[in-house]
Amino acid sequence: MAMSVTVRKKPKVWIEPGCIVCRACEQICPEVFEVTEETCIVRPDADASDADTVREAAQACPVEVIRVG
Ligand code: SF4
Repeated sequence: MAMSVTVRKKPKVWIEPGCIVCRACEQICPEVFEVTEETCIVRPDADASDADTVREAAQACPVEVIRVG
């Protein structure tokens, strides 16, 4: 039986509800995170290739709503 293996270089990033708009993630990794008036979003054209910085931003989130898969 053939098995396929997917190698994913870029981490998947998403944000769960609960952002308190502290802007920490955007300051650390503006290529990926954009803070709006009410919440934070992952930019549609986000370049998450710098996985270490993405994870650093996730760890800096005070309410731990940034998920990195
Ligand atoms: S670090 Fe967390 S709480 Fe702060 S703006 Fe980003 S997602 Fe929101």
